[in-house]
Amino acid sequence: MALKNIITVPDPLLKSVSKPVNQITGEIKKLLNDMLETMYKAPGIGLAAVQVGVPLRAVVIDISRDEEKNPLLFINPKITWRSEETSIYEEGCLSIPNQFAEIERPASCKVEFLDLEDKKKEIKASGLLSTCLQHEVDHLNGILFVDYLSKLKKNYIIKKVSKQKKNSEKIVV
Ligand code: ZN
Repeated sequence: MALKNIITVPDPLLKSVSKPVNQITGEIKKLLNDMLETMYKAPGIGLAAVQVGVPLRAVVIDISRDEEKNPLLFINPKITWRSEETSIYEEGCLSIPNQFAEIERPASCKVEFLDLEDKKKEIKASGLLSTCLQHEVDHLNGILFVDYLSKLKKNYIIKKVSKQKKNSEKIVV
């Protein structure tokens, strides 16, 4: 396994629509393992392939946090149902470091996906897993959580992160 670099805003790749995975090759399995390692190290509870610079429809999630690890892998995930009931979580994103905002989303959803054995699966998610899945599937469609905020707030956050990035690149050794 290998750690990957996580790209951050305003990298234009984050706005691109990821392509479906056509075949679950050894390369794809390695990518998913690398994504898991990168997510745990960050640390985060979800990561889409595009965030490590690979615009393919693949997502890793583990919402267990401090408890025993429970990695979930989703290839070509598709949301097939969203509840009318909504819930609000304070969301952050590994591609928008240190910024958080309350985002309202459907409280539950159903997601169809392929597992590593190329088998079609479906899960019904609620609570944190539902929000996390929707956040990650958004990544595959070039959507970030800041896209749900007002233009003013969104621009403020992106400017702030870009500035932090500039500052952190200035090193003297
Ligand atoms: Zn994110």
